[in-house]
Order: sequence, then C-alpha cells, then structure tokens
Amino acid sequence: MQYFSLQNRQHKVNFETAVVQGLAPDKGLYFPEQIPLLDKDFITHLDDYTDQEIGLKVICPFIGDEIPKEELSKIVNNTLHFPFPVQKVTGHTYALELFHGPTLAFKDVGARFMAGCLGYFRRNSSEPVTVLVATSGDTGGAVASGFYNVPGVEVVILYPSQKVSTLQEKQLTTLGNNIHALEIEGTFDDCQQLVKTAFLDAALQARRPLTSANSINVARWLPQMFYYFLAYKQMKAAHPRLVFSVPSGNFGNICAGMMAAAIGLPVSHFVAATNINDTVPRFMASGRYEPSKASPTLSNAMDVADPSNFVRILELFNNNLPALQNKLTAYSFNDRDTARTMEQVWKENHYMLDPHGAVGFMGLQRYLEQAPELSGVFLETAHPVKFEDTAPKAIREEIYTPAKVMALYGKEKKATLLPADYTALKNWLMR
Ligand SMILES: *Cc1c(COP(=O)(O)O)cnc(C)c1O
Repeated sequence: MQYFSLQNRQHKVNFETAVVQGLAPDKGLYFPEQIPLLDKDFITHLDDYTDQEIGLKVICPFIGDEIPKEELSKIVNNTLHFPFPVQKVTGHTYALELFHGPTLAFKDVGARFMAGCLGYFRRNSSEPVTVLVATSGDTGGAVASGFYNVPGVEVVILYPSQKVSTLQEKQLTTLGNNIHALEIEGTFDDCQQLVKTAFLDAALQARRPLTSANSINVARWLPQMFYYFLAYKQMKAAHPRLVFSVPSGNFGNICAGMMAAAIGLPVSHFVAATNINDTVPRFMASGRYEPSKASPTLSNAMDVADPSNFVRILELFNNNLPALQNKLTAYSFNDRDTARTMEQVWKENHYMLDPHGAVGFMGLQRYLEQAPELSGVFLETAHPVKFEDTAPKAIREEIYTPAKVMALYGKEKKATLLPADYTALKNWLMR
C-alpha cells in the first residue's frame, strides 16, 4: 500500500517510510492511496473469527507485503492480547471498554502495534533508533509500555515535573531497560519544544537517529479500527444497527472508526463527543474551521483545540460537508454535565465512567433521543482510576483500583531530573 501526503498528493511513500517518518517532510499527514474493501462474507460471519484473525484481516491490505504474514500476525496478537468487552449501561447504550490493556487506556492499542512494526523494520540495523516523545500524561505511558524491550529501539520520554498524576508518573518511570524518563523542570509545552528542537538538530541526529511515536503516525492510527469490528462482533446478533459515540480530542480514534466503516463495517452513524474544546462541533454546524485556544477540562486527554486527524476525516468524505454531516454528528459538553453524568450513571446504572467515557456517553444519549430505533456503543477510553484525583467527591471512594495499579504504586521511580534547557537535553542524549 502506498500512502500520500495530504499536503501534496504526488508525494507517495510505502508503509515503512510512513511509519518511520511519522509526518511527511511537507508536514502533511499520510493517507492510504486506496480504501481496501473487505468481502461481505467476512463481515456477515465475523463471529466465526477470533479477535486476532479479525485484526489481521482488517490491517493486512494496509500493509501489503511489507511485513510477512507470520510477522504481522505476531504483531496483531501482541496488540490484541487483552479483552475488549462491551458492557450494557442503560436500555440501549453500551460501553466498549478499551481500558483493559497495560496502561489502562485505548492508546495501548496503537502504541503496541506501532512498536511491533518499528521493531520489525529495524530488525537488521546495527544502530538503535531512539523514539523521543513529550507527554502530558497518557501517551508517554502507552508508548513506554508498548516499546518496552523492543530490540533496537531506545525510548526517551520527557514529562513535566509535578504535572502528571502519580499513576501516570509510575507508568513512565518504573519500567527501566530501554525506557528512559526525563523529568523536566517546566511545563508540557517546554517538553514539546525541547523535542522539536532535537528533531531539527542534525548533529544530534547524526550521532543518535531519532523517530517520533506521534499519534498521527499511520501505525498508531489504523490499528484503532480493530476494536470497532470487535464491538460489532459482540453486538451484531441483537443490535445490527449501531451508532458509535467517540469521546474525541485529536480525532484519531473516531477517524479510525470511520475508516473501519469505509472498508465495510456496517455503522449507522458516528457521534464525535468533545468537551468545551469544540472546534469540530462548531465546524459541523457552520462549515468554518476556526480553532480557538485549548481550555483545560476534566477530560484532559481531549483538551485539543486544533485536532490533527480531522483532515483525514475530511479526506474520507472528499471534503464534502453535507456527506459528512450525513454520517457524523458532533456535540460538545461542559465539565458540570460531565461530573453530573458520572454521578448519575453510577447511582442509577451502577456503571463507573471516567470523564472521557462520560462525554462519549452524553453524546450517545443525545443522539439516540432523535433516533430511538437505534442502539449505541460509546467508547470508554480509560479506566476511571486514571482520573481518580478529579472524580466527583460523591463517587471517588467507589472507584475500583485494579491489582496492576496497586503493584505499580509499589515500584521505584527512576527518572533523570533536567532543567527545561536544550543544552542539558542534548548533553544527556549525546552522552
Ligand atoms: C487520547 C485520549 C482521547 C482522545 O482520543 P483522540 O484519538 O485524540 O480523539 C480520549 N480519551 C482518552 C482517555 C485519551 O487518552
């Protein structure tokens, strides 16, 4: 499969180059040249296949022969090695739980898949490559866990000192081996700036080749299609007409769902649910794309004002707004509604939402008011324990702490404290 840059359709690369580069040199996002259609028979008999067989079938045409089938199969198995259950929450709304992976959030899927691909592509190189990332919390943990012990890959994660939760910090700093955590005395923006500077530093790159594990990487984006198929597999007998509601920030997750639909998954409609960072809901109403400045919210992994992946959604619909409106509805919700929903759903349905899932749940409820004949699945993108600190007081005590979180709290933090200064970072990387 070839991928073209959304900035310049003439610029085409293969899957490997798209994965290694992340972003095209012209800063465009890569997009597959063809939309491969799955055969109808496969969809009809989805429940005859294992989760891993489904994953392999879905991703194969996007990679072609660049990774041999047995290798790809291993990568898929390693990505889908935890469950993706659908749980009933109310009469016709269901939660697709994406938090049963090692870092308790859906980003584990993309990170593990990308790690597998990069590990394969680097298999014969003598020189290790360094994945350099800045994190405000969740991404770093998923990348650290996904790339842990992948041969030929070193991971360096920059995070802002005292600005990530205790659990997030433990996820970043306790693995060791090829995972290095740099605790930066500054903000997330400082971390991001340092990483950008490093990528532009030719002398550094000559000594230590760098790559990114950015969320716009095709190897993080495309495997997110898997769990839409797995949800449909669980729902299709009783609820063949499905709406998916996706709590959205950078719009990679929902864009993968829409790609799943484009290659043949039957989906009646998509809902993009955002917090008050509502650039897309405003665009869907007005046709004008006017990003504002990001505001902090309870669902902080979605505090994105200019979602990178939205251009991919537009591309899927040939930039035709009415066609897109026909398939996608977008709503935005504030923190008061989010907190109230978390309390109410716990009280009435005994289901514990995290703030991101709560936004997805509200989006689904609102859409189903006007389409009561449909059933819906919202994506529960993180375990509530990850956002325990900011959960409404009334339910905080009720949040369940999984055993793997308890184990993590007992592990020792290993991080290098550095000032938010490029020379310090460069010296560390060149050492
Ligand atoms: C990253 C993240 C999101 C947003 O996903 P996008 O693909 O950026 O839209 C939602 N919820 C959680 C918990 C996340 O970590």
